[in-house]
Amino acid sequence: MNVITNHMPTAELQALDAAHHMHPFSTQNDLAARGARVITQANGCFLRDSEGAEILDAMAGLWCVNIGYGREELAEAAARQMKELPYYNTFFMTTHIPAIALAAKLAELAPGDLNHVFYAGSGSEANDTNIRMVRTYWAEKGQPERNVLLARWNGYHGSSMGSGSLGGMVGIHSQGGLPIPDIHHIGQPNWWAEGGSMSEEEFGLMRARELEEKILEIGPERVGAFIAEPVQGAGGVIVAPDSYWPEIQRIVDKYGILLIADEVICGFGRTGNWFGSQTLGIRPHIMTIAKGLSSGYQPIGGSIVCDEVAGVLAACEFNHGYTYSGHPVACAVALENLRILEEEGIIDRVREETGPYLKEKFESLADHPMVGEVKIVGMMGSLALTPHKDSRATFASEAGTVGYMVRERCFANNLIMRHVGDRMIISPPLVISKEEIDLLIDRARLSLDEGMAAVKDAGLWVAG
Ligand SMILES: *Cc1c(COP(=O)(O)O)cnc(C)c1O
Repeated sequence: MNVITNHMPTAELQALDAAHHMHPFSTQNDLAARGARVITQANGCFLRDSEGAEILDAMAGLWCVNIGYGREELAEAAARQMKELPYYNTFFMTTHIPAIALAAKLAELAPGDLNHVFYAGSGSEANDTNIRMVRTYWAEKGQPERNVLLARWNGYHGSSMGSGSLGGMVGIHSQGGLPIPDIHHIGQPNWWAEGGSMSEEEFGLMRARELEEKILEIGPERVGAFIAEPVQGAGGVIVAPDSYWPEIQRIVDKYGILLIADEVICGFGRTGNWFGSQTLGIRPHIMTIAKGLSSGYQPIGGSIVCDEVAGVLAACEFNHGYTYSGHPVACAVALENLRILEEEGIIDRVREETGPYLKEKFESLADHPMVGEVKIVGMMGSLALTPHKDSRATFASEAGTVGYMVRERCFANNLIMRHVGDRMIISPPLVISKEEIDLLIDRARLSLDEGMAAVKDAGLWVAG
């Protein structure tokens, strides 16, 4: 593999970056003061930065590099497709082979009668599609008033106007005039933070029943769909209590509203099955996909749609689409990624071998004095940090202060583990080996030890 080493010195790259590159979800002035870490190369589960450090990427980029970095087959698929047909659109009665082949493959992999694919360039775009598709579906059925979409606080569905409105992130809603009209939110099934004195099962039922209460409050004749991630990702890898999803399924069935599973993270093996809906036992009408669809090698997303919804839409012109819907290079790369996931048995190995191994090792962190709850499904997991496990207390500092301190130690220890508030989260490439899992856990434990020492030094080891 060729590694480019004749780049500018890191400090110069950082200065140019800060001067000209506006970063997503960042405070640009902080970034300018510190200098961003410059990632130059990656292979398997490891990143290399411009200083030559080897970093274990326990986040698979942004939850997306499912087959790991450095797979030449994907580069070759992209080059082949670029030479053959680098671009054509799928508007106006045209199509092309990569878009056809990928749609057919997704229809085969997706459960039930989810047989139809509407392409987008990202998860955010796909969820914007879903809003318009749901409302158009009900309008075509003669129920245009059924335009309300329900979603959850602390869910994440993207950061465009529509998808950011579906999401329940207060920080996103507070900028730019979101949410758009007729989107409402219910509570999240985060027992650790919000369950009070209830049992996990009671709390799961209570949170699921908020959906029914909200439907009745708004009027069942007005509600078109409910969207949720099978396991909340960006919200902190929140795994609902077992009682939650069966009750949600009962409620959406009872009121005949559409269920949208946002599979952008959970899809393509992350939970040990092709889709999180299979792991959690739910039957969505639409699934949002992106991220692991191409293992992040190309930007591509989409909606996989059931026969009923696609059938109704088929009778009208749906005035919607993106220049890059079904981009041929992205489709070709996604197809190659799916081939590798399937033929190399990567998802089976997550379900039967490396997932259980990671679970055992990750759960062993529960004995750390600062770790309260440990949650893990397949290859997505979280640790709730607390100064007092029994009371599930928070620290006497703004949420995220302690999580950030631990993340800083991870950074120094060459481990990418993120924090969401005071929860630490992982989502490694699905190809991670047992030895690499051991390394991940060693570095995580060291970082927790060092983080705890820093927390104590700062006088924050007290309950808030
Ligand atoms: C990342 C994410 C999105 C948004 O995808 P983008 O490609 O960043 O627009 C949507 N839903 C979920 C569950 C995600 O994790």
